[in-house]
Amino acid sequence: MFRGSNNVGVCGPHFPDAELACPHCGVNGCQQGLVDVLEAFRAAVVKPVQVDSAYRCPAHNVAVGGAKGSEHMQGLAADIRVKGMTAAELEEVARRIPAIRGIGRADRQQYIHVDVRSTLTLARWCYSASGKRCGYYPPLAEAA
Ligand SMILES: [Zn+2]
Ligand SMILES: [Zn+2]
Repeated sequence: MFRGSNNVGVCGPHFPDAELACPHCGVNGCQQGLVDVLEAFRAAVVKPVQVDSAYRCPAHNVAVGGAKGSEHMQGLAADIRVKGMTAAELEEVARRIPAIRGIGRADRQQYIHVDVRSTLTLARWCYSASGKRCGYYPPLAEAA
């Protein structure tokens, strides 16, 4: 496992390098903070967490239509799903993990984007059925 001086290229006990790396070039630029929340998420649901996308190199981020400046390119974001759980249920779990500062919810596709950006406020948004990012629409009952 590669561990750079800037602490990139990490993986975790339940999240091997192959699941976190860019599927296009195999580079794993994931940072420790991201792997920590993935492990915390897994511990909270007590089920395997499937990673659809974690680190993306800039070329791959363009190829998949990722946002400019996407946290995926900094190794700070992952798109995750858990068998048998809706995106709303996944978000509920994510909101109990303080280090998660960005949550994008894909109700139709049943996955959520989580990231560990370094902002104080929690960023939330949703994805349309076609995967386009849009404003956060479902006001959560538990939201203040
Ligand atoms: Zn790549
Ligand atoms: Zn994402």
